[in-house]
Amino acid sequence: MSAAKHAIVIGAGAGGLAASIDLARAGFRVTLLERGDAPGGKMHTRAVDDREVDGGPTVLTMRSIFEQLFADAGACLNDRLTLLESPIIARHAWSHGGVLDLYPDAQRSRKSIEDFAGADDAIGFERFYSQSARIHKTLSETFMTASKPDPVTLVGRVLRHHHPSSLMAAKPAPNLWCALGHFFSDERLRQLFARYATYVGSSPLSTPATLMLIAHVELEGVWLVDGGMHRLAAAMAELGQELGIDLHLNTHVNEVLVKGGRACGVRLEDGTSLPADVVVFNGDTNALATGQLGSEAMRAVKPRSVEQRALSALTWCIKGSSSGFDLDHHNVFFESDYPSEFNTIFEERNVPAKPTVYLCAQDRGSNGSLNGSERLLMLVNAPADGDRQSWSEDDVARTRDNALAVLQRCGLNLSFRDSDCVSTSPSDWHGRFPGSGGSLYGGASHGIWSSFTRPGARSRLKGLYLSGGSVHPGPGVPMATLSGRLAASAVVSDIA
Ligand SMILES: Cc1cc2nc3c(=O)[nH]c(=O)nc-3n(C[C@H](O)[C@H](O)[C@H](O)COP(=O)(O)OP(=O)(O)OC[C@H]3O[C@@H](n4cnc5c(N)ncnc54)[C@H](O)[C@@H]3O)c2cc1C
Repeated sequence: MSAAKHAIVIGAGAGGLAASIDLARAGFRVTLLERGDAPGGKMHTRAVDDREVDGGPTVLTMRSIFEQLFADAGACLNDRLTLLESPIIARHAWSHGGVLDLYPDAQRSRKSIEDFAGADDAIGFERFYSQSARIHKTLSETFMTASKPDPVTLVGRVLRHHHPSSLMAAKPAPNLWCALGHFFSDERLRQLFARYATYVGSSPLSTPATLMLIAHVELEGVWLVDGGMHRLAAAMAELGQELGIDLHLNTHVNEVLVKGGRACGVRLEDGTSLPADVVVFNGDTNALATGQLGSEAMRAVKPRSVEQRALSALTWCIKGSSSGFDLDHHNVFFESDYPSEFNTIFEERNVPAKPTVYLCAQDRGSNGSLNGSERLLMLVNAPADGDRQSWSEDDVARTRDNALAVLQRCGLNLSFRDSDCVSTSPSDWHGRFPGSGGSLYGGASHGIWSSFTRPGARSRLKGLYLSGGSVHPGPGVPMATLSGRLAASAVVSDIA
């Protein structure tokens, strides 16, 4: 590979960082352009009084993906980051009664479920868990780590590696919510496991049942990054710079330049043109489709309709204190009517008055210290209408009060000063991630074909490659990292 080949990567999210690392390793000169003031994209922190609070992803799974990325570049992830296995996957509480911990140990979780809901649902959990493991095994090599398949290719890949019955384990119908009814009679358990659909920004009423594989992924281990998730992004950026990547922060790309039907560079906001042999885009692909990187790049991908957008969220980074409920690191607080939450979000395009609330108590379970107050991230799901509906301070405050009321009904009181609570609304997310409408996960995984309609690493415009959560294999930090690796490998094989 000639060292003269120049790759420009737009965006230093997980996918852009992974693509840059692999391209640099393959001998490319890599320029990484990031409009934000730090690498990491959604892996970011917000300053709250004297603390830095993680404002994006907090649940780290599939550790081996990051270990492999570092090992392939001749480095060791464990030398650069301290990852602690969370002894509890998450603590779940219901406003109408019940608290349940899940563990990264199927037997312990089974016992916990038996005490919570009885022997039948414990057996249901065993069946559910083995089906989820089977789906994971079938799809991890044939779908997740492989280049984007069409349905026929996927069936071929599965049959090459697995018994034909595994296709039945991965059967996509009817939807996750219905499928869970076959395993659990206690509605609360159905709710708990249906929530996995929201990890890919989707409704359990519309996602294929295959998404139950996330249960297996979590039971394999959830990791806490000492110092916070943003440290993972910093470690990836540091590795990239050691490999020679030229990282420019606060640099917005306005246009992908095209010559002779091929991407040949970029134009920055200040008018500077930078030539390149290949361009990798790590932003939301809808930014390309809606012309935000120039008219020529519009044909690179299909646009996404409002209805196809995945979830957005309202989040609050807080420095405060808690009482009345023993928080773990990851906590989920449920109300009683789960299906109506998703109808409100996806059909009525509103935030429910009684939302499910995720609360990450970031100083618990790792080496942090509570020191009187603690760092908290509170999140409720919201429709991705950040470009169509502006969120006033009153709207945000009302939703925050509704979320705090859910916590109170579950026994938890949070106290903090107003100035120690920093919010992010769907409009704010849209501003940070152009073209997204505030969607945090690209397109929703609704219907059996959604996984196949997500763009792959090669866009329709020659020389322009794609990485990130809106691209195959999908959202989440591990998947976005894999997408970056797939983009780099497509570039290397095309150029070679
Ligand atoms: C609140 C929240 C909670 C989440 N929780 C989890 C979780 O617990 N676990 C998990 O695995 N995932 C979680 N996710 C999802 C996960 O964070 C994302 O799927 C993943 O980080 C996306 O990575 P990406 O490669 O798509 O890049 P992104 O993080 O989307 O970054 C893209 C980068 O491109 C830059 N960019 C875009 N356009 C341009 C341009 N024109 N010029 C220059 N730069 C540009 C942006 O500034 C950004 O930095 C969460 C996300 C959020 C927001």
